[in-house]
Amino acid sequence: MNQHRLTIHEAHELLKTKKISSVELTKTYLARIAQVEPKVKAFVTVDEDGALQQAKKADELIARGDVFPLTGIPGLIKDNICTRGLKTTCSSKMLENFVPPYNATVIEKLNALGAVIIGKANMDEFAMGSSTENSAFYTTHNPWDVSRVPGGSSGGSAAAVAAGEAVYALGSDTGGSIRQPAGFCSVTGLKPTYGRISRYGLIAFASSLDQIGPLTQDVTDCALVMNAISGHDSRDSTSAPDAVPDFMRCLKTGLKGLRLGIPREYFVEGMQAGVAESVRAAIKKLEELGATINWDISLPHTRYSLAVYYIIAPSEASANLARYDGVKYGFSYQDTQNMWEAMEKTREFGFGPEVKRRIMLGTYALSAGYYDAYYLKAQKVRTIIRQEFDEAFQKVDALITPTSPSVPFKIGEKSDDPLQMYLSDVCTIPINIAGVPAVSIPAGFASSRAESRDSSRAESKDDNLPVGMQVIGKPFGEEIIFQVAYAYQQATDWHKRSPDIS
Ligand code: GLN
Repeated sequence: MNQHRLTIHEAHELLKTKKISSVELTKTYLARIAQVEPKVKAFVTVDEDGALQQAKKADELIARGDVFPLTGIPGLIKDNICTRGLKTTCSSKMLENFVPPYNATVIEKLNALGAVIIGKANMDEFAMGSSTENSAFYTTHNPWDVSRVPGGSSGGSAAAVAAGEAVYALGSDTGGSIRQPAGFCSVTGLKPTYGRISRYGLIAFASSLDQIGPLTQDVTDCALVMNAISGHDSRDSTSAPDAVPDFMRCLKTGLKGLRLGIPREYFVEGMQAGVAESVRAAIKKLEELGATINWDISLPHTRYSLAVYYIIAPSEASANLARYDGVKYGFSYQDTQNMWEAMEKTREFGFGPEVKRRIMLGTYALSAGYYDAYYLKAQKVRTIIRQEFDEAFQKVDALITPTSPSVPFKIGEKSDDPLQMYLSDVCTIPINIAGVPAVSIPAGFASSRAESRDSSRAESKDDNLPVGMQVIGKPFGEEIIFQVAYAYQQATDWHKRSPDIS
């Protein structure tokens, strides 16, 4: 058994039968972090002391027989989720020294189960980006090819799970930030239904889109983390009162009689041939496993999703980020004559270029005279996009698409071209706009070239990069997408492969 690639369910078995203690397990992961972190750079903070203390407590719980699936298991938290007493930076200079006085609800839930938090994960600043290149600190590297990005904004979370630096991680997803890095790093990542998980203590980016979710090595682990962190919370007014099922119970239902739809707009123009081929092969596998495939699904307003997103998300961000004024908390520029200058300088030096771009876009779209033309129009199109999903789910039980149009790109390849960067979320953004759940699972490895591989050419490293497949469900339909994703993982081994970071 690979000690650095234990799943939650494997580690749980070892802990429960006392073959290993949580302290030993945590030390193994700390050693792995020390070994690979110089290459991967997935962490903003490694909390060695805190993790070992929590592990000791977990061992006491286990000795008493109080052992839950996450008890004693080291997980990593994206650095926009508040952890009491542990720096939460959003990978921004603005919050570089911010130590929250409270825990996010998801953290309280993990603590109550005796989970171990091993550190905080690097990300794009304030979760704005698709590559972690917008982190104010450093770029995280993709463990499958360290010259490439891990995706983003939850790039640190995805890279750490792929590299065996944490058993699982939490991320957040506003337009693809869990699923796109999960696809790029060949791990399993779920954006739950809007309202499924409390966002209390998640530092807000775009409040009508943000969701917290798990990044794990397989679907079983994903269900285990969902069981631990889902549910209504009176401290988040958008959290749904719906009862939470036991997500483990649906996994083995199989695919017989299930109707899967392939929305034609998602094999977008410009998609790399290897990505399309891998996902088509995966769809064939799902058909062999007993699902009925409907190729005749259309979500025509998908093509407006990016435009809608880049009005709504920046608008909400401009309002959410108004609180960083240097007065209440966070970075504060002191050396000025008056309050206005202090505020200006705080924001000038505290925020990076992408965050400033979003704030400018958002304040413009919301300003008098432009509001109707941009913000209101975008909201109307959003309603149409959501209705199209509702209609599709009258015909099928789940939808299948690629997670991203490309395999991981090179560090620096798109960082000067925001539009190219925005396009990498073209398949994931509509899902947040509609508020529905979707999971990305490993679906193969393909070439970074635009065209199919010419078999006479020798294979190189660029021909073996991760491809993700997205399974989309109806609102609160996580069980069905787990059922599909689990069946696929039982029949394939993409998710079991691990990168060689030597
Ligand atoms: N990449 C998208 C953006 O830059 C989505 C980010 C996210 O989901 N947090 O806004």
